[in-house]
Amino acid sequence: MKLVIASNNKGKIREYKQLLEKHGYEVMSQAEAGLELEVEETGTTFAENSALKARAAYEKLGCAVLADDSGLAVDALNGEPGVYSARYGGIDDDKERCAYLLKNLEDVPDDKRGAHFVCTIHFIDTDGNEICVEGRVYGEISREPVGENGFGYDPVFIYKGRSFAEIPAEEKNAVSHRGDALRKLEEKLSER
Ligand code: IMP
Repeated sequence: MKLVIASNNKGKIREYKQLLEKHGYEVMSQAEAGLELEVEETGTTFAENSALKARAAYEKLGCAVLADDSGLAVDALNGEPGVYSARYGGIDDDKERCAYLLKNLEDVPDDKRGAHFVCTIHFIDTDGNEICVEGRVYGEISREPVGENGFGYDPVFIYKGRSFAEIPAEEKNAVSHRGDALRKLEEKLSER
């Protein structure tokens, strides 16, 4: 059975392939499936946005599809940047966005710098049955960016004493919001 991931992010596609091919799916990116998706992420929650993307892809293709949405929620900013993580402060560049976040948290003391990443995955099977799962990982925001790996807010997100940009990809996947959501999806698929 074909399963199209509504994304062209190579890292994400690789992770999804590893997990979902075990369940008998032939996993491909939207580009490989010839799908061009222009979905406006108008939802106010991660779950709404991943559902919007997955349903748009399913409507066009009629085969099994999966879409995700993710971002960073900072306690001292009442959950911001949240669903606006990718465009926080209207800034296009990962490093500049991290700097902007750190500036906004300049006066926040060390014991109030808690934050978590969230990832929702919305899966629709060939018959149109939907599964939505959410994964999280809790940590805190550093004072300076640290590390060279990863992407996005990884250099400023501290998990158990090290930033997500300091640890190898496999180690991050084992504890990350995306890894957590993927494991929950796998559990639900195994139950069927
Ligand atoms: P999307 O789910 O690919 O749209 O990602 C939303 C935004 O959240 C990204 O552009 C990153 O800024 C941020 N983000 C999501 N997951 C991660 C992560 O694992 N590390 C760092 N930043 C992330």
